[in-house]
Amino acid sequence: MRYDVAIIGSGPAGLEAAITLKIRNKNIILFGSSIKSEKVEKAHEINNYLGLTAIPGSELAEKFLEHAKSLGIEIKQERITNVYAMGNYYSLQTSSNEMVEATSVIVASGVNFGKTLEGEDKYLGRGVSYCATCDAALYKDKVVTVISTNSKEEEEANFLSEVASKVYYIPLYKMTDSKLLPSIEIIEDQPLEISGGLKANKLILKNKELDCDGIFILRESVPPASLIPGIEMDGSHIKVDINMKTNLKGCFAAGDIAGKPYQYIKSAGQGNIAALSAVDYLNEIKNKQ
Ligand SMILES: Cc1cc2nc3c(=O)[nH]c(=O)nc-3n(C[C@H](O)[C@H](O)[C@H](O)COP(=O)(O)OP(=O)(O)OC[C@H]3O[C@@H](n4cnc5c(N)ncnc54)[C@H](O)[C@@H]3O)c2cc1C
Repeated sequence: MRYDVAIIGSGPAGLEAAITLKIRNKNIILFGSSIKSEKVEKAHEINNYLGLTAIPGSELAEKFLEHAKSLGIEIKQERITNVYAMGNYYSLQTSSNEMVEATSVIVASGVNFGKTLEGEDKYLGRGVSYCATCDAALYKDKVVTVISTNSKEEEEANFLSEVASKVYYIPLYKMTDSKLLPSIEIIEDQPLEISGGLKANKLILKNKELDCDGIFILRESVPPASLIPGIEMDGSHIKVDINMKTNLKGCFAAGDIAGKPYQYIKSAGQGNIAALSAVDYLNEIKNKQ
């Protein structure tokens, strides 16, 4: 089955895009690595969202979800690890290694404030991976390191430990009630650089170095240039025009990932524009057939 539009990100930009597309009767799929955007849920009090006075972030997040649910929109809780342009459609790979097809894509993945590591881009696909489920088999009986920005990824490390001979785990968050299996070695240190030859074989940390065959970097979001090969960037943002079009036909971006200012209402507004641009794109294709 091919969807009309796949939306990556369940923050204000992605949700507004989904709502607009649903109202326009489009067949959509909405992905969120978490159901609620942390950036909405964790805001103490929001004073600049039109129509809502001094609203706590947790309440706004709930209202966004209620609105989506009222239209029958479901959030598929999956991280998208790759988007491939296939000519007249896109193929999206999920963190559980499923492939989903859509004619158009809206990227609303927010900004990843963490910088990529030195050597990360160079070794991506050559010892560096963003998806444990997709690539675990490559590291059977090998030594791997998992760098993770959130506790949800502990399950992924446990899964890797069933395949690899040794798993190091570097949490970039405060660990509480760890679900990690006892065989996994936790390293509390700051990753600085990935090095190697043809393939990555070493992670350099602030206080030590780890020799390993594979390095899994599990963040909530994947840097856009790695997520969608060929996408044109403007610094750390996806380059868009006023209609939220990217350089790739049928691919749109909205919200923080499309540039500053980082604001809820701007993100939702851009989600709306991206959705309407996607509708135009779908109509264009239909009229050509
Ligand atoms: C503490 C705090 C307070 C703030 N207060 C205000 C305020 O008062 N007023 C204001 O206007 N703005 C405020 N902001 C800014 C606001 O949070 C952002 O501008 C807004 O959330 C951006 O919306 P977005 O939809 O672009 O991205 P996000 O809200 O970041 O949502 C993106 C979502 O996409 C998901 N995602 C990312 N990559 C993938 C992937 N590969 N696959 C699947 N899902 C993915 C992420 O997990 C996330 O849930 C605040 C931000 C913070 C951090």
